[in-house]
Amino acid sequence: MWWSYQDVEEQKARLQREIEKRKKRGDKFQVLEAPAGQKKLCTTFWGQAWCRNLESYQVYESRLPRGRSYLRQGKVFNLEIEPGKLSAVVAGSELYDTSVSIQPLPKKQWKQIVESSAGQVGSMLDLLAGKLGDDLMKVLTDPVNGLFPKPKEIRFNCSCPDYADMCKHVSAVLYGVGVLLDTKPELLFTLRGVDQAELLSDASSAAITDLSADAGELAGADLSAIFGIDLATEIPIEEPALVEAKPAKKKAAKKAAKKKRK
Ligand SMILES: [Zn+2]
Repeated sequence: MWWSYQDVEEQKARLQREIEKRKKRGDKFQVLEAPAGQKKLCTTFWGQAWCRNLESYQVYESRLPRGRSYLRQGKVFNLEIEPGKLSAVVAGSELYDTSVSIQPLPKKQWKQIVESSAGQVGSMLDLLAGKLGDDLMKVLTDPVNGLFPKPKEIRFNCSCPDYADMCKHVSAVLYGVGVLLDTKPELLFTLRGVDQAELLSDASSAAITDLSADAGELAGADLSAIFGIDLATEIPIEEPALVEAKPAKKKAAKKAAKKKRK
């Protein structure tokens, strides 16, 4: 089917009216801004690695370019990344609700990644900025055992009439993730259901060992803030002997218990 310039303009206007109508109804409509034309779609390690992973699968090959151009034209709205799920509204001939489920990273695979990263991640900032050694990058981007999802872990859903396999709306959403990861790389870990703080395992596991040995010496609250781990459970707050013998620890335990309740 050939579309004239007029048809395209009419369709655009119709969609715009529909968006305005939904906005008035109170719906959110936030466009995912993506570089237009020939500019690089993603510019950071995480965004580019996400797109490279998508493009490495032959099953997606034919559908990806249309989705990419949809995204560049600003047709993806309200992209949300949650554990195991992506969702967005994509403007095609109409507005379509698109969602993609992505299985969480298998525990065993994540454990391997954490072990391979031991001592190699300088800080959370380095991790999120992709300032990582070549060996670790290979581990994280490994097509079989890395962080990125494989086709068999990905399921699509779209309200368009054309979603037999992967429609262009789904493909636009998948590319949209790459664009979002450029500014919020931590969302990759959210999506895969893992905690990126565990990649700083050297520092955090050493701290936990110290804490178990002497609960009073370390302020649990501070470590929780630094490593994003709930350390309060490590502190024996209910043990009277400990509290009586060393009153200083009672204070620390109370502080931790208070923190936990928050
Ligand atoms: Zn679709």
